[in-house]
Amino acid sequence: MHHLSRDASGETHRRAIAALVDKHGRRINYVRLSITDRCDFRCNYCMAEEMIFLPRHEVMSLDECLRVASVFVGLGVNKLRITGGEPLVRKNAMWLIERLGAMQGLDDLVMTTNGSQLARYAQGLRNAGVKRLNISLDTLKAEQFRQITRTGSLADVLKGISAAGAAGFRRTKLNTVMMRGVNDDQFIDLVRFAVDNGLDISFIEEMPLGGIAGRSRTYISAEETRARISECFDLSLLSETSGGPARYWKVSGSESRVGFISPHSHNFCDTCNRVRITAKGELYPCLGQNDVVNLLPILRSKLCNEELRQAIVDSMGIKPFGHDFSSQMESPSVIRFMSMTGG
Ligand code: SAM
Ligand code: SF4
Repeated sequence: MHHLSRDASGETHRRAIAALVDKHGRRINYVRLSITDRCDFRCNYCMAEEMIFLPRHEVMSLDECLRVASVFVGLGVNKLRITGGEPLVRKNAMWLIERLGAMQGLDDLVMTTNGSQLARYAQGLRNAGVKRLNISLDTLKAEQFRQITRTGSLADVLKGISAAGAAGFRRTKLNTVMMRGVNDDQFIDLVRFAVDNGLDISFIEEMPLGGIAGRSRTYISAEETRARISECFDLSLLSETSGGPARYWKVSGSESRVGFISPHSHNFCDTCNRVRITAKGELYPCLGQNDVVNLLPILRSKLCNEELRQAIVDSMGIKPFGHDFSSQMESPSVIRFMSMTGG
């Protein structure tokens, strides 16, 4: 594999770089980097009501985040998603994002956000080179929104969504976690909102991450939701995939796509192309397993990146083939919350 780099004189030349390939032959070119475990919301499927957050010294500094990202990019990673917790509540997050946006070889810098801070940051993110945004939105009803997020304001998120459009973001995608008896009355309205505002939308099956009770009661399959949406919208299956877990349908008569992320009903592990880094600098090769490599001690003990690079290469040997969420809805084997690992 080759990578174009520019030397001090500005001359461009090719240098060979290693690619990350796991023991199952899957090429890893995508990193999801959590830059904080904190959040201004407490979504009830993601966090416990009383969360204990990491002490600051256990959280990677922004400089450490940048180092980790640059080593991954040197190993052929060309897509990075900034996530959290809520990435935009991290102090000075823009410092990091501007540097990531300028990083040679990182073609696709994207972010997942709850949208609460976007009215303030959307233009800066766009100027820094963030290509696309995923914005979480589970309902369009203010009171239901408050119940799900415990602390969030729907009006702020709607302002954030408009700010993203005004800043020039295109193909913004809404993320909706499907919960029976909680927000399933909203699926059609959410698709209509997406169509009216030129957005895409993905419906996500709830995953058993962290000790949260009652998940099997609220579980809805992607199939069921798609059948319900099809009663109101004409959906046609798109063949293109992003190498990710979602399958997309186009809403006829619009530019919008409806995606379904269905870790229960359609396991997507065989094409997995990603790893996750938590705010503590832990590298989780799989969202649904406990295998981990702790990069923080290496980051803090060595100034040179060689050992970090080796630890990342070695982590390919422990990337599990996949997960089994379906049997774990009431007794999760992954006790860390989604806000810890980064969605
Ligand atoms: N705070 C940001 C946000 O909400 O978009 C980024 C982090 S959040 C952990 C990333 C995504 O994970 C969100 O779309 C959220 O809805 C989703 N999520 C959180 N917990 C989940 C769970 N147990 N099952 C499925 N999706 C979950
Ligand atoms: Fe915060 Fe996102 Fe988790 Fe909601 S889903 S609590 S917004 S990290």
